[in-house]
Amino acid sequence: MTACHCGMTLEQDRRAPCAECGTTVCASCSLEFDATTYCRWCASTTALERTA
Ligand SMILES: [Zn+2]
Ligand SMILES: [Zn+2]
Repeated sequence: MTACHCGMTLEQDRRAPCAECGTTVCASCSLEFDATTYCRWCASTTALERTA
């Protein structure tokens, strides 16, 4: 059983890993931009850069 960076235990769900860093995160840490899934850490950098 793995855990998200925020400490939430990850269930065996269908969360896609972050497109940037490949980390699987929990639902509350997963964000979607342009139909691409990012973790909230990459979303605050990569995704926001792309939309800027
Ligand atoms: Zn990421
Ligand atoms: Zn999380």
